[in-house]
Amino acid sequence: MLFARPGAGKSTQAALLAKRLGVPHLSTGAVLRDEVASGSALGQLIAPVLERGDLVADELVVPVVAQRLGAAAAAGGYVLDGFPRNLAQDNALGAQFPDAVQPQAAVLLDVPAEECRRRLLARAASEGRSDDTPQTIDHRLALFDTDLVPVIERYERRGLLVRVDGDADRHVVTERIIDRLDTP
Ligand code: ADP
Repeated sequence: MLFARPGAGKSTQAALLAKRLGVPHLSTGAVLRDEVASGSALGQLIAPVLERGDLVADELVVPVVAQRLGAAAAAGGYVLDGFPRNLAQDNALGAQFPDAVQPQAAVLLDVPAEECRRRLLARAASEGRSDDTPQTIDHRLALFDTDLVPVIERYERRGLLVRVDGDADRHVVTERIIDRLDTP
């Protein structure tokens, strides 16, 4: 699993890693945005939440991830991008998901908040993602500190955390992650 501030390049690295490792890439953000685009009942429910940069309710996200993670693990493994996002989701992962899908490593892609904000504002201009507005960006960066840092500290205590400096060319960062996973 990959942990990072929004804008740190988490999805980019997850995609590159999944390709290198030959396993599926599971991005909860992409799954949720696909739901919105499909116009499904779930999509209509969560569209305003995504727009505000808030977290979608745990009881909606956990079943979606459980189903896809099971399928991915059966295919030989996964790179998980965007889950767990808070301690409650991590508790659900530990309690409700079978041993076969428990993570082997947690990579923290470390990029300073200021650099993340700069990248997200640049992306807003080029891609137009609806949650890339200045206010929403600050809110999402704050959620990293309040909700995700406790999860990261938990994986550190478990000895599963691999901290990688993500402030470099994307292919250099992928090599750093692969190296660290080979020799933790
Ligand atoms: P970013 O890393 O830029 O926040 P993501 O694609 O990971 O981008 O997430 C985009 C949005 O999707 C989040 O702001 C949140 O609304 C929602 N989301 C993604 N993963 C989760 C999750 N595990 N729990 C709740 N909401 C989530």
